Amino acid sequence: AAKSTGKNAAVEFHPSMTVEARRRARLETELRKAIETDALSLVYQPQFDCRTGRMIGVEALARWVHPVDGEISPVEFVPVAEDSELIVSLGQWVLRRACRDAARWNADSEVQIYVAVNVSARQLRQVQYSENVKAVLAESGLSPHLLELELTESQLMANMTAGVEAMQQLRAAGIRLSLDDFGTGYSSLSYLQSFPVNNLKIDRAFVKPLPQAGQPIVTAIISMAHSFGIAVVAEGVEEAAQLAWLTDAGCDIVQGYLTGRPMPFERITELMRTECEDSEPLA
Ligand code: C2E
Ligand code: MG
Ligand code: MG
Ligand code: MG
Repeated sequence: AAKSTGKNAAVEFHPSMTVEARRRARLETELRKAIETDALSLVYQPQFDCRTGRMIGVEALARWVHPVDGEISPVEFVPVAEDSELIVSLGQWVLRRACRDAARWNADSEVQIYVAVNVSARQLRQVQYSENVKAVLAESGLSPHLLELELTESQLMANMTAGVEAMQQLRAAGIRLSLDDFGTGYSSLSYLQSFPVNNLKIDRAFVKPLPQAGQPIVTAIISMAHSFGIAVVAEGVEEAAQLAWLTDAGCDIVQGYLTGRPMPFERITELMRTECEDSEPLA
């Protein structure tokens, strides 16, 4: 197996490594370089309130254009980072950039939008994680209630006690929390009760079959979340019929290619100018 030999050292290669392992080892070295040289970027995907049609927030998604390999998906490089300490510096870079951008959007605007940032379990387990987030917020000037941190239940369940403690500290600081990819892990009622989250994001696997199939499970998730006072975000909404069904079923917020693809900073700035002022219900 590859092992990292130090902060700036290249990852060792062994003849026994598979092609896949070699690629991961190379990606790890190059991702480290990309973080250090500011070669990553963020795109933002809007979230809309189903009832008012207003853009209420955006999710920050990391992008990496490799000088040789071209665009590499976060589906590939985030797990590489999670397998090493790199996720901490990647996460820190993403948080800083997202807070800085959100502070700009909200600076002289009547309407306000929150920015949602994906957080890995390894970050949440850092000592003083909530102190660190507060420091980044202070540095950017962004109000804590305009930052949402997205966590996944499978990651939270790996260390329930530590996770819930960190979540409580973040909530106490006024930071919003959401449960990402809901339904793909070992979801259960009792877990939902112990996670102090504002939003629950229904994974797009459950949205995809709508409105023809899969309605009972989505209806159940929405009513369960609401009974805990948690708002529901539907991820991966691609069709108007899905949006109509979800709105009718009481889903609160939508995010998907139908209402907006992930886009650069400037496009969100334009959207805030045009769409936020006079919106109508989406469906
Ligand atoms: P996620 O947090 O569940 O983000 C939603 C993903 O679904 C994004 O993929 C987004 O582009 C995609 N998506 C949104 N709407 C639609 C739709 O209508 N149809 C389809 N087919 N897909 C849609 P992306 O940007 O490739 O990110 C994939 C995953 O990588 C994210 O899933 C998240 O788990 C992870 N990720 C991305 N950026 C970061 C980051 O900064 N930090 C961490 N820890 N993870 C990140
Ligand atoms: Mg997410
Ligand atoms: Mg998700
Ligand atoms: Mg995900």
